[in-house]
Amino acid sequence: MLKVKTTTDADVIAGYLCDASNTTGHASCLALPKTTAEVAAVLAHCQSKAIPLTVTAQRTSTTGGPVPNGGGLLSMEGLNTVFGPDDVSAGVILGEHQTKLAFDGLMFPPDPTSRHECTIGAAIACNASGARSFRYGPTRPWINALEVVLPTGEIMWADRDTPIPEHWPTAMWEEPKVKTAAGYYPATNLLDLMIGHEGTLGVITRARLNLVQAPKNILGLIIFFRGDEDCLAFVSTVRQGAQRPGLPATDNALNPAAIEYFDVHALAMAKSRIPDIPDSAKAALFIEIEHEGEAPISTWWDAISSATSLADDTIVADDTSSRAHIAAVRHAIPAGVNEAVVANGMPKVGTDFAVPDQALATMMAAYADVDLPSVCFGHIGDNHLHLNLLPTTAAELSTAKALYIKLATQAVALGGTVSAEHGIGKIKRALLADMVGPDTLSAFRDLKRHIDPNWILGRGTMMDVPEQFRL
Ligand SMILES: Cc1cc2nc3c(=O)[nH]c(=O)nc-3n(C[C@H](O)[C@H](O)[C@H](O)COP(=O)(O)OP(=O)(O)OC[C@H]3O[C@@H](n4cnc5c(N)ncnc54)[C@H](O)[C@@H]3O)c2cc1C
Repeated sequence: MLKVKTTTDADVIAGYLCDASNTTGHASCLALPKTTAEVAAVLAHCQSKAIPLTVTAQRTSTTGGPVPNGGGLLSMEGLNTVFGPDDVSAGVILGEHQTKLAFDGLMFPPDPTSRHECTIGAAIACNASGARSFRYGPTRPWINALEVVLPTGEIMWADRDTPIPEHWPTAMWEEPKVKTAAGYYPATNLLDLMIGHEGTLGVITRARLNLVQAPKNILGLIIFFRGDEDCLAFVSTVRQGAQRPGLPATDNALNPAAIEYFDVHALAMAKSRIPDIPDSAKAALFIEIEHEGEAPISTWWDAISSATSLADDTIVADDTSSRAHIAAVRHAIPAGVNEAVVANGMPKVGTDFAVPDQALATMMAAYADVDLPSVCFGHIGDNHLHLNLLPTTAAELSTAKALYIKLATQAVALGGTVSAEHGIGKIKRALLADMVGPDTLSAFRDLKRHIDPNWILGRGTMMDVPEQFRL
């Protein structure tokens, strides 16, 4: 009989009850397993007693996924072994592992902004992505195999040749054809089903990673524009023929790895810290280009100077100090947003929608049209921008929440997703239900109930808890 470390000390548990969404839950017990066998023992016990269990890693989720609705918590912090460069336990911190890989010239591409705080297992559970997903896609394609403990306590290894057991209900549906982290993946193998389920179908304990050679050099550019129209025109030029996930290599000379956008309000925020942002700039792009030999500055200069841009103000980063300058510009914006949230004494309301290429201009126009303090920035290469609404009063907060729903509906109507990277968690269930419709939601439920007969794992994440399982 395995003895798993657990605690019922309320003061200890208090440190595990909320995440970056600022929602708080409650739990009566915390399990701190150190091995896969211990995770399996906890799950088997909870399933046999119908005790709800929430997996918690580093709690950087912005959607309430690791926040418990009663029952127990299972922390991944004790599963932190690095077996080899491409073989790690789920609780290993993503950024720490990536830093070690870089010393050996290797790269694991997923780069969520939170990578230095979040775990590899959670990045897989949430199919996390980041700026580089323009070229490399989200976490999914960078996972070769997973060790997963099912909600019954059964331990399984899955790769892309592992079939989904025949007797399991299928959850096939048409995902929006955009970067998305919303709902179960319409998988044809067990590995893909176990990526992106947000801790509702199993506990990921160990992962085999797909690594690539790290690029020798990265050129960074910040290019300024007089408005969104000019900026969008440049994005469309740069995107043409660029190497994208799942597409063959390209000979497009520009070929960026990341294209990020900052709106006029984001630039205003950054300008208080970085004076060399031009006054006439009303939009900007931050672009990263991986290269082997000499930096392709002249190719980019030709493209920038022949576009309608503030070409002479372009910030070029091809060495350590200029890279630090660019990093400071980028950092100034989320830092400014956080300061505004504190100064306002009100939470921000942030979007995570992505839309197809042809709908980007429409979505950006809707973002620019909001009548509330806001800052918009993000992954324009993937048509995935974060509009941060910054209400200053309770009335503005309720306007922001209503606006958020309206924009989500618009994104879905345009063929997009309600979550491109942050997931559904506990706070976006209604949006997912509207996006996928009742039949797909019912297929998700059938699958979940079959794998997890007492609906113990991640209760309240992704889907409402069925009546009979409510506490
Ligand atoms: C400042 C900031 C920036 C962020 N930037 C990004 C970004 O650029 N891209 C992005 O995609 N996300 C981003 N996020 C969201 C978040 O960091 C990611 O979702 C991350 O993967 C969560 O990791 P974590 O270790 O904190 O997991 P937690 O927050 O503890 O858990 C997240 C979810 O995964 C489940 N889970 C955790 N571990 C496992 C496991 N081993 N097996 C099964 N389920 C598990 C939990 O139950 C929960 O539902 C950001 C968050 C913050 C606060």
